[in-house]
Amino acid sequence: MQDSNADSLMTPEVASAEDEPPGSSGWQTAPFLTATQVAPPSALPAAARRADWTDWRWQMRNRIRTVGQLVGSFPKLKGLTAIAEAADKFPLAITPYYASLIREASFADPVFKMAVPNVDELWDPSFLKDDPLEEDHDMPVPGLVHRYPDRALVITTTTCAMYCRHCTRKRVAGKRETCITPAQLSRISAYLSAHPEIHDVILSGGDPLTMATPALERIIATVRAVNTVDVIRIGTRTPVTLPMRITPELVEMLRRYHPIWINTHFNHPNEFSPEAREACARLADAGIPLGNQTVLLHGINDDPRLMEELCRGLVRMRVRPYYLFQCDLVRGVEHFRTPISRGIEIMEYLRGRLSGLAIPTYVVDAPGGGGKIPVLPNYVVSSSPTHTVLRNFEGMLISYPEPCTPETDPGRGLTGRGAATVWDLAAGRAPKIQPAKTDRHERRTQHTPATTPIAVFE
Ligand SMILES: *Cc1c(COP(=O)(O)O)cnc(C)c1O
Ligand code: SF4
Repeated sequence: MQDSNADSLMTPEVASAEDEPPGSSGWQTAPFLTATQVAPPSALPAAARRADWTDWRWQMRNRIRTVGQLVGSFPKLKGLTAIAEAADKFPLAITPYYASLIREASFADPVFKMAVPNVDELWDPSFLKDDPLEEDHDMPVPGLVHRYPDRALVITTTTCAMYCRHCTRKRVAGKRETCITPAQLSRISAYLSAHPEIHDVILSGGDPLTMATPALERIIATVRAVNTVDVIRIGTRTPVTLPMRITPELVEMLRRYHPIWINTHFNHPNEFSPEAREACARLADAGIPLGNQTVLLHGINDDPRLMEELCRGLVRMRVRPYYLFQCDLVRGVEHFRTPISRGIEIMEYLRGRLSGLAIPTYVVDAPGGGGKIPVLPNYVVSSSPTHTVLRNFEGMLISYPEPCTPETDPGRGLTGRGAATVWDLAAGRAPKIQPAKTDRHERRTQHTPATTPIAVFE
């Protein structure tokens, strides 16, 4: 039962005395689950709509939660039986705001595809699991995942503004909308105090920013009180799905607990709205470094040029592309998965073309709890004790000399006869193998090399 004691993390206006199913393990009922559903936005008078639209609580209360409400917003929607079947298995929630980013009510629309249940979610190949990362095995106390030596992840709530169809925590997110209890929080705090090697605590979920600010502050303050914790990170998709949540009041609270870092989750340029820009600007202006974790999704962003556009758009909003995730082997998301080769192709395309600031690290979160493994195209082509042969994005091969002593100095001008091979580069007999024509060489032919040191200005 949702209790009414003063220790509750719920704020009074969102607390409810509703349904805790028997046998449930002390999770509290989340704020918005039991709120009365009012009419969808299209049914409201325009004036009321404008005032309410920017209120994040209104957005939460008016999420599309049923297939009926979905049809209310998209009257021409087809395949309702299939949608209902998928929604029955994995919860449906779409904020009116996120629904407004849909340009066409079809699975060809990236925003629609991320938000609307699809019959493909019922497709269940044998190797998929509910918890492929085995997070439940790395939980020393309920709600805290301790996998890496110096950092830990806290599942603060199971509620999200929108339930992403590709979610890696489909086993948690939205099955029941609950938040961490004070009792759980104090066990987590005790664990953190007993493990001073944990310097970075990630508040995750679900989406921590679906909690009311005082409830969130209690969690942040508790973690901040552990003096061996340096960084508090928040993983939230609200800048994308509920940007009006980033209120001045929230930002004022967060900045009192620095260093706070936030990672968000943009997957497609159609998510770059004025509201999303404003949300990111507010956080960045409060000195909160922003990162982005994109999931590589078939039919949504598995295209090198689109990924370039996404990454450029992010840095423009002062959001640093942090990770590009290979889609996990989670039950219900198989139709979103791409081959790893697609990720490598994308990374090959981005490097050299995009500022290093805009290039994420592509990672596969290994099944079986292996953790995140970075995957890159190969840039080390060959090596010997004296030289490593590298290649750049243009295809130029470079012989990189390793540190030497006077005795092992290979000397200058050591060149082999005939055309150099990779073997010659590894032996230090040739400095490079250059493609016949590159854009950079074309540019070089347009001007003569500078004759004065470039740092001297007349
Ligand atoms: C991803 C993750 C982290 C954070 O990893 P970083 O590489 O530091 O971003 C921490 N704990 C768990 C369980 C994770 O999955
Ligand atoms: S916001 Fe994150 S936790 Fe919530 S449904 Fe989307 S991916 Fe899952």
